[in-house]
Amino acid sequence: MQTAISVEKIREDFPILKRKVRNNKQLVYLDNAATAQKPIQVINAISDFYTNHNSNIHRAVHALAEEATEAYEVTRDKVAQFLNIKDRREIIFVRGTTEAINLVAYTWGRQNVKQGDIIVTTEYEHHSNIVPWQLLTQEKGAKLEYIGVNDDGELLLDQLETYLATGKVKLVAISQMSNVLGTITDMAEVMRMCKKAEVKVLVDGAQSVPHMKVDLQQIGCDFFAFSAHKMLGPTGVGVLWVRKELLEQMTPFHGGGDMIREVHKYETTWNDLPYKFEAGTPNIADVIGFSAALDYLSNLGMDFVRNHEIEITKYALEKMSTIKGLKIYGTKDISKRGGVISFNFADIHPHDLATIIDEEGVAIRSGHHCAQVLMERLDVAATSRASFYIYNTKEEVDVLIKSLEKAARLFKL
Ligand code: PMP
Repeated sequence: MQTAISVEKIREDFPILKRKVRNNKQLVYLDNAATAQKPIQVINAISDFYTNHNSNIHRAVHALAEEATEAYEVTRDKVAQFLNIKDRREIIFVRGTTEAINLVAYTWGRQNVKQGDIIVTTEYEHHSNIVPWQLLTQEKGAKLEYIGVNDDGELLLDQLETYLATGKVKLVAISQMSNVLGTITDMAEVMRMCKKAEVKVLVDGAQSVPHMKVDLQQIGCDFFAFSAHKMLGPTGVGVLWVRKELLEQMTPFHGGGDMIREVHKYETTWNDLPYKFEAGTPNIADVIGFSAALDYLSNLGMDFVRNHEIEITKYALEKMSTIKGLKIYGTKDISKRGGVISFNFADIHPHDLATIIDEEGVAIRSGHHCAQVLMERLDVAATSRASFYIYNTKEEVDVLIKSLEKAARLFKL
């Protein structure tokens, strides 16, 4: 039987959470959808790499090169285990979700999308799952279509059925969890429709992988992207997973060292997978730091992560819904949402609200959250957003609520 996990104990691993910020107030960090804080284990792993093992990888035969290569490659195995990926050669290290999606658009997209084809995305995508498809469809004379969002922040999946029925859809690019509404996409339903229509699916897992158990064999998609920095890891590391049959057909993204087998004056042959897609010296230290983040989350267990966030989010939604004039976006059904709450408070501008809240030491996000298409759909210029992770507590939610009440007093609401 697993012993109960203490959030207080988790907090001890995160040095930054002890910080005092404005007016010597205790930091309450509620901007986890933007990036998560790093436990000491991750910080130490990066420091240990530079202190004791620093070397380039995959090349030299000396001891340090062997150690660095081993540690870098072990991370690939841990990613495979974390997401239940069968073949480690399908895992490509990139800079983040943005680079991963661009890689697919520039390689697979350029090779396969033709004039008149359709790429389908959704109204709640992050710009990184919209702009690469705009660039591609504009270049190819193809069309970009959007699955709409209903007033509960859920996708209108019958629209997907309609697009698929045209027979022209080449790819469905969809996030598994919205970074603004927190909505969890019904991937089983999306995959059922797309498999029937034999259409490829790219999943943006930037918000789902850090917060819930994700099994890629179970989802059955073709491309999957996520970032390490939202799941306790360092910035500058992300993963693109691609089904091997597709990866083998895809042309390289970047040309350079490590991605080649032989280079002659006028022709080059490619290295084996996944190295064909990892040109140049990669972000070795941070990939090794990511390894420690994967260990940390695996030790906690993703069921703990999800359940803890459900508890905190439920508590926050209950408390926030008692505040007059506060509008919360997204579904009330906690089983369909992650630990993200976007809101607007009467007619206080979200930036003003975030500034007042910041004076109490509470870090939330305000703005369009790189989701301007969704902002248009919600008919707002911006929202405020509180987002939670493994180290947040109900007491911290109480501080948020108190700071919202202070804003109400200041604005005489
Ligand atoms: N997709 C979603 C859903 C996100 O939340 C984010 C980060 N806010 C991204 C993509 C982009 O991730 P990155 O900036 O790490 O490339």
